[in-house]
Amino acid sequence: IKLLVSMGTCGIAAGTAAVLKAIHQEIAERNLENAIEVSEVGCMGLCHAEPVIMLADEATGEKLIYGDVTPEQVPAILAAGTSSIAPGTRTLERNWYYPEFETAKPGEPQARIVLRNTGRLNPENIEEYLADDGYAALAKAVTQMTPQQVIDLITASGLRGRGGGGFPTGRKWQFAADQKSEEKFIICNADEGDPGAFMDRAVLEGDPHTVLEAMAIGGYAIGAHTGVIYIRAEYPLAVRRLEIAIRQAEELGLLGRNIFDSGFDFRIEIKYGAGAFVCGEETALIHSIEGKRGEPTVKPPFPAVEGLWKKPTVVNNVETYACVGAIVRKGAEWFRSLGTAGSPGTKVFALAGKVAKVGLVEVPMGTTLRDIVFGIGGGIKNGRAFKAVQTGGPSGGCITPANLDLPIDYEALKSIGSMMGSGGMIVMDEDDCMVNIAKFFLEFTLDESCGKCTPCRIGNRRMYEMLNEITEGRASLDVIDRLKTLSATIKDTALCGLGQTSPNPVLSTLANFEDEYLAHVKDSR
Ligand code: SF4
Repeated sequence: IKLLVSMGTCGIAAGTAAVLKAIHQEIAERNLENAIEVSEVGCMGLCHAEPVIMLADEATGEKLIYGDVTPEQVPAILAAGTSSIAPGTRTLERNWYYPEFETAKPGEPQARIVLRNTGRLNPENIEEYLADDGYAALAKAVTQMTPQQVIDLITASGLRGRGGGGFPTGRKWQFAADQKSEEKFIICNADEGDPGAFMDRAVLEGDPHTVLEAMAIGGYAIGAHTGVIYIRAEYPLAVRRLEIAIRQAEELGLLGRNIFDSGFDFRIEIKYGAGAFVCGEETALIHSIEGKRGEPTVKPPFPAVEGLWKKPTVVNNVETYACVGAIVRKGAEWFRSLGTAGSPGTKVFALAGKVAKVGLVEVPMGTTLRDIVFGIGGGIKNGRAFKAVQTGGPSGGCITPANLDLPIDYEALKSIGSMMGSGGMIVMDEDDCMVNIAKFFLEFTLDESCGKCTPCRIGNRRMYEMLNEITEGRASLDVIDRLKTLSATIKDTALCGLGQTSPNPVLSTLANFEDEYLAHVKDSR
C-alpha cells in the first residue's frame, strides 16, 4: 500500500506533521515497513479537510482519502487498509481522485494538467517524477525539435499567460527568440501576492520539477541559457523544495551543461522577493532581480526585447510553465481539446472565503462559476446565501448571482467587469458588506503601491478616505459621483497595471451593489 501524506503548507499548518509522526511510529511498532510505503506529497487540493492522507493499494487499485485525520486515528486507519473504512474517521472519497483530463468521467468538473503531479508525487524525490514521464518533454524538445518548432507548438496550443493578462505565450517566446543577442533570460514569476491566492505556492511545493523542466524548454526555444525563479521569501517550503529539485536535476545532468547530449546548456537560479506585491509586475520584478527598487517602468520596451540586464527576457508565471511540458509531450491539439476556443486548457483557482470546501481547483476554461462554487466547492458555508465572488484579486471585480452560469474564460470575465487574474477566487455570502470588501482591497493596494506615480499614490488614498467616510456614516450623496470620477482618472493615468486596475473592486461593487453604498449614505442623514 502506498500512503500519501499531504505535506504542503496547508497540511503542515493543520497538523499533518504530527499525523506523519504517528504513521511512522505505527509502522515501526507493527513491522509494516514492507507493507506500507509512505510518501510525503504536496497539497492534494482538499485544504478544507487537512490533515489529509490517501491510501492507495497498487495491486487492487483501491484508494481511500481520509480528511481531518488525527494522530489518534492512525492505528485504526492502517489496520483497516484499503478494503474497509476505519471507524470514527472522516472519509472524503473512495476509489476516486482528481483525474488527469483523459480519464475524467463525463460530468466530472475537474481535470488536471497543471496539478497533475501535485499531491501525487513526492516533490523531493526526482525518481518519482522521472518514472512518470518527467523530463521527457525536455528530452523531446532538445533532441527532436528545433527551437522554432517548440515555439510554433506552444503558439498552436493557444496557451495564454496564466498570471493575469492572458497574453499568448507562444507570441511572447517568438518576440524574444527574434531578438539578436548573445545573452537572453527566462524568468519564472513566482511572486504570488494576491489576497486569497495560493495556486503557485501549491505547484512549487508539490511539483517543482515540472516548472524547472518547462523553463529549460523555454530557454531552448528562445536561446537563453539562464533561468531565474523570482519567488517570495515568505514561501520557505516552496523555496526549499525548489532548491532540492534544482540540485537533483543538476546531479543527473538534466540541468546544466550539454543537456541530453544536445549541446544545450541551461542553469536555473533562485532570487527572493521581499513581499512587495508590485514586484509581480514584470518590469518591477526585473528591477528587483537587478538589485534596484522594485518599481515598474513604462512599456515599451517590453522585456522580450529589453529585459533583465537589458537583454531579451521572457517572464511567465508558475502555472503557465506548468502547462508547457504536457503540451510538448502530448501536442497542441490535445491541449486545445479542453477549454474554450479563445482560452484553451485549464485554469487553477484557489477557492477561498465563505465556501464550504476551501481548496485548490483545476477546471477546464469555460466551466461555470456555479460548477466551481456549488459543485466542487460544496456551496456556501453554514447554509447562508451566495452573494458574490471576487476574482482577479485587488485588480479584479465581483461576480454576482446573475452570472453564476457564465462559462468562465479571459474574455467572459472581462465582459462582466472582472478579470481572470492569477486565480484567486474569494466567495462572499449575504452577511458580507460589499463596501467593506471594496475597502479591504483598496487598503491592500494602498499598502502595496510603490508610490512612483501620483494617480496611484494619492488617488487611491483619496478613494480610501471616501470609502471610510461612507462606512463611518459621514458621506454625502455626491460621494458616489466623486468615487466614479476619481476611479476613471486613476485608471487612465496610473503608470502600471497595479494602479490602472486598483479602482476595479470599487467600480464593480458600485455597479452591482450601489444600493449598499446608498444605504450607508442614507444611514448618515
Ligand atoms: Fe507604483 Fe502604483 Fe504607479 Fe504602479 S501605478 S508605478 S504601483 S505608484
